[in-house]
Formats: sequence, structure tokens, C-alpha cells
Amino acid sequence: MARFKTQLVHGVAIEDNNTGAINPPIYNSSTYAFESVDSVPRWDYARSGNPTREFLEQQIAQLEHGVRGFAFASGLAAIHAVLSLFDPGNRIIVGDNIYGGTYSQINEFFTRWGLQFDAVDTRDLDAVEAAFERAASDGVSVKAVYFETLTNPLLKVNDDAALADIAHRHNAIAIVDNTFVTPYLQKPLDYGVDIVLHSATKYLAGHSDVVAGLAVARTEELANRIYFAQNRLGGVLPPAECDAVRRGIQTLALRMDRQQQNALAIANFLERHPLVAAVHYPGLPSNEDYHLALRELQGCGGVLSFEVRKGVNPADILDNLHVFRLAVSLGAVESLAEFPASMTHFEVPREERLKLGITDELIRLAVGIEDVFDLTEDLKQALDIAERVAAPSRRQETARVKVTVNA
Ligand code: PLP
Repeated sequence: MARFKTQLVHGVAIEDNNTGAINPPIYNSSTYAFESVDSVPRWDYARSGNPTREFLEQQIAQLEHGVRGFAFASGLAAIHAVLSLFDPGNRIIVGDNIYGGTYSQINEFFTRWGLQFDAVDTRDLDAVEAAFERAASDGVSVKAVYFETLTNPLLKVNDDAALADIAHRHNAIAIVDNTFVTPYLQKPLDYGVDIVLHSATKYLAGHSDVVAGLAVARTEELANRIYFAQNRLGGVLPPAECDAVRRGIQTLALRMDRQQQNALAIANFLERHPLVAAVHYPGLPSNEDYHLALRELQGCGGVLSFEVRKGVNPADILDNLHVFRLAVSLGAVESLAEFPASMTHFEVPREERLKLGITDELIRLAVGIEDVFDLTEDLKQALDIAERVAAPSRRQETARVKVTVNA
């Protein structure tokens, strides 16, 4: 059987291409002809399935070691379909540090639908056990534990194996959003997780040119339920976008190798910079999750975040970057920088955000494949500007203190 990097390039061929074309065809057809009234064709209508989407769905199922994959119009459409497997009145234990859009989908949509959520720090396994006990005393059934392996934007590491084990002991399933990790760095189903989700918009497509979501199931039973949700909710990925994700996946390993090499170099640079109060990247030996990351991940990816010292305005850094573009999203070939407080995590109320450690001094970097010296030089010159802007106000502070003392 082909190894992972070969699987990335070739996917699982479907036997419908007799032209010799190296790439699978893009079928731009919404409907497919029946041979006769009583025939049952393999393809009938493109929302239910089409060969271009099937190629991608088989490709991701193979890479994630699942039984079946599903392609959606966005990461949030994939999450919507998977959460819709549950019934009103069911409870889901959810990581308290998840993507802002997922947080909003849960709180502003699914709670209206009658699903209950208990948000806990999923790195604290006792807190997860306590959430199951809470549900039992409320007489409510917990159906799933939902989390992200690498959390956004603080890059904390969740223990997939331990969380899947706790979920299963309580007759629940484990669902992980592995957008920040990808199957190149970890295959959660191998750790016992039941459903893997991706915003394929990010590393899998890899070029900031498509919005897409993927889900992979570990069992046929879950796969059948996800298929029903995919087909009935209808948020499917169109053929051209399926092909864009397929093509992105072909170079995932090459891109990710360079991205995480660059990210580690930048993390090291920032850790030594006097304006930086903290760097969040589990690939750094100083990080509290370094050993868990070593145990469960093949690398820590290209995203990191850092906090500037109080008195330094993060905007003075972000507004003066030239190689890094000021933009949300991550995982693509170009480097991006953003301010979680007002950009990716604006949906999270400030008080809650601060409790989670997403401070007003936090900057997130999504590192691309550029020359790492251009990236560090870019950060250095922006940090220099921020320092110059901060210095007069710090001098004024000192002057005020002196005046007070003199008075
Ligand atoms: N999950 C994570 C971890 C994300 O970062 C994002 C988007 O940033 C999503 C899900 C949503 O994906 P999409 O934007 O493709 O809907």
C-alpha cells in the first residue's frame, strides 16, 4: 500500500477516466441521465453525489483512516451537518477555546435548536469527567465531546486519545476539529476519535483561493448519518472547488514541512525579543504542552501567537507589516497576521475572551512558505516601530510619576 506522501499525490482513483488524463476530470453537471425508468444509476443528481466530489471524499477518508469522507461548502457547513446528528435535549461537552465561528454557531444557532452545551477546558480531564457527572445529575444524556486538537489562537494541545477514551466510557462519541493539524501531523481516528472535521479552506487547500469543509467518520453508522445530513441540509462543495482542494492536498506535506520550519524559527525569534511577553507555540521546548505534542503530533503546524508587553499597541505592529498580510485565515502559502480580539474572535464576549487568555495584547501569525529571513525581518522592523511609538508614552508616564513625587 502506498505511503502517506504518495497517497497525498494520487488519491484513490475512480474508474471513470479513460482519456489518460493525469488529473481526475471535473464533472460540471448538476444532473445525470438514467438509462431507463427502472434503472438505478450510480449518479443521479449532484447534491446527492458526483464523481469529482467522490474523488476528494475518498482521498480525505484514506488520509484520515476513516470509512468515508464528506465535502462541504465550508468548514462551518461541515460542523453544522455533524452537530445536526444530535437531537434537541442532548448535551455536548465542548472545548472552551474553540474557533469563534463555531462558538457562535453553537450559542446562537444550536442552542435555539434545543441542543445543550457545557463548555469546559478539555485539557483538564477532571473537568471533562465533572461535566459528565453534571449532566447525569441534571438527568441529561451527553452524546459527544467536541474539541480542537490545537486550539485557536493559543495553540494549546488537547489529548485526543484521553478525550476519546473518556467519551467512550460514558457512551458518547468524540468529535475533533483538526483544521490546525491536518492528517499529515495527526490522524485522530487512530487515537479513537469518531469524527474528524476540517476547514479545508486552510492547510488542505492551502492557497487562500477556496472555502471548503470536510468530515470523516470512523464507522459506517456515523457515515450514514453524516451522509443524510449532507444531502438534506445541502451544503455541498461544488465540483471546481472539490478539485481545488484535491490539488492543494497533493502538496500538503511539502508546504507543511516549510511552514512549521518557518514557524519554529519565528517562535524562537519572538521568544528572545524584549517587546514580547509570551509566545504560544507547542513546538517550543518552553511550552507547557511540548511533551504532549511530541507524543501525539508529528509537528505543530504553521500557526503561533504571541503577546506584546503592556504599553505596546499590537496595532502598531500589525499595521506596519509588509510581507505578512493583515488578514484572518491560516494554513496557506502566504504569511498572515491578525488581531484575535477584533478579528477572528470578535464573537466571543470580551470578559469570556480574557478569561480564556485571549488578551488585548495577543497577535496571531499564520506562517507561510516564504523565505524565513524576510519574515523575521518584517516582524523586526514592525516591532521596532511599535517600540518607538510606545517609548514617548512610556517617557510621559515616567514624567508624570516624577511630577507626582515632586509634588
Ligand atoms: N474550524 C476552525 C478551527 C477554523 O479556524 C475555521 C475558520 O477559520 C473554521 C472551522 C470554519 O471554517 P470555514 O471558514 O471554512 O467555514
